[in-house]
Amino acid sequence: MISKSKFILGQQCLKSLWLDSKNIPTTNPLDKSANERLKAGYEVGEAAKNLFPGGVNVEYHPSDFQKMCDLTFELIESGEKIIYEASFFADNVFIRVDIMKKTSKGWDIYEVKSSTKVHKYHEEDAALQWHVLKQINYLTLNNIFIVVVNNKYLKIGDIIHDELFNIISVTKYVKANQSNIKEQLKVTEKVLLQKKEPSIKIGSHCKKPHQCEYFDKCWPANIKSIDSIFNLYRLNLEKKLSLFEKGEDTFKKIKDRVDLTTTQKNQIKAHEQNQPILNKSKINDFISSVKYPISYLDFETFTDAIPLFDGQKPYMQMPFQYSLHIQNNINENLGLSKNHFEFIAKVKDDPRRFIAESLLKNLPSDGSIMAYNQSFEKNCIETLAKHCPDLSDELLALNDRFVDLIVPFRGGGYYDSNFKGSFSIKSVLPALCPDDETLSYKKLKIKDGSTALNSYKEMRLKSDKERADLRKELFEYCRLDTFAMYSIYMELIKSARI
Ligand code: SF4
Repeated sequence: MISKSKFILGQQCLKSLWLDSKNIPTTNPLDKSANERLKAGYEVGEAAKNLFPGGVNVEYHPSDFQKMCDLTFELIESGEKIIYEASFFADNVFIRVDIMKKTSKGWDIYEVKSSTKVHKYHEEDAALQWHVLKQINYLTLNNIFIVVVNNKYLKIGDIIHDELFNIISVTKYVKANQSNIKEQLKVTEKVLLQKKEPSIKIGSHCKKPHQCEYFDKCWPANIKSIDSIFNLYRLNLEKKLSLFEKGEDTFKKIKDRVDLTTTQKNQIKAHEQNQPILNKSKINDFISSVKYPISYLDFETFTDAIPLFDGQKPYMQMPFQYSLHIQNNINENLGLSKNHFEFIAKVKDDPRRFIAESLLKNLPSDGSIMAYNQSFEKNCIETLAKHCPDLSDELLALNDRFVDLIVPFRGGGYYDSNFKGSFSIKSVLPALCPDDETLSYKKLKIKDGSTALNSYKEMRLKSDKERADLRKELFEYCRLDTFAMYSIYMELIKSARI
């Protein structure tokens, strides 16, 4: 039997489908953020049922698909007009339909997705549903739709489900692709029966639409090495794969370097010379743009598929935490807790006004505000300003004071081969401050922004004690981000003086 999820897996890569069907352990299992996306998918699915209220749910029986099909049949026979999770089996394929609604022309089928637009694999998913449903002799079909989240919807008062979702017809695509589906099903079945692992080359399909869970099994082991062509800054994947196919998998082996960008050439040069490539004039340009006191600022944000607070949109970045280190002059040495301010909103509250007021209270009235990749922080401030019209002028004025610490690195002022083609703070920090234990994220429970946002959202369901522990971990993480910025800037100043 083929389930819809296995069919879709096979559409991405038949080898991954085969490995999965043989229960070969994955090398890159889903991480916490992927699980969070699944959770969001469930929430969205439940919310979408409100588009068609009054329906009946077919209970889930994981080990008894026939029972689910029988229950569905009984509901249809008894005259139910709206059914959630209706289950069908035909042509050796088992499917569950998110929502189906009976109309005077036959059943309308709705597949609910937590994304904000229809992707190709959603259409393929719908085409498979249609293929199965067409073979159910007691059903007359009318149309098939994909329901996606409308990220322009602004919650004011109770959720208006008709506005929260966009319903898009895919009937035309689905009908036009029925013969493809038949062919693809044949291929899928053949692969599932074969004894030998299918031979499939690595490619962009290993990352899209989903990161493959067998990635490390197939990709070369040296992909993470400093001199791997897969680490070349902003070289597109097709070009990387073409070099790899030609056997030019390390910097040394690249025969034609003419088309490489300046950053890519610096990357190779820094590796070959085993020392950073510096452009002091670019570093000094940045340093001279910075004014004391420096406010090193970092926000953490969460998103919700279904908005919780008035004035919130689906997937909108909601600032809930900031960390701020203040350095009054070039000779002032900071520590993790020295000249430091921080804030985390209570999980039950809309965080925006609280965070805005705290920030305005603690930020110096002049000097530079330093961020790493400033557009994120500036957007957070715009979000706060929109939510607090009475503080808007004061908040928006802050955006004129920003300086972006990524600029001297991304702009060609400083390249260290240990950046491995990335200018993220997590790549730059260990390269510039390799021996400082206080600057290691490894010892923290929360090590990255996506874990931080998931931890904050988890707090909604936790006991007071668990919440207090998570708050402590969140403080430790965000505090290190701003202390890291200060430490990187101090190293940058030193490098310009050498
Ligand atoms: S890593 Fe790529 S080639 Fe290997 S199984 Fe996954 S998708 Fe297929």
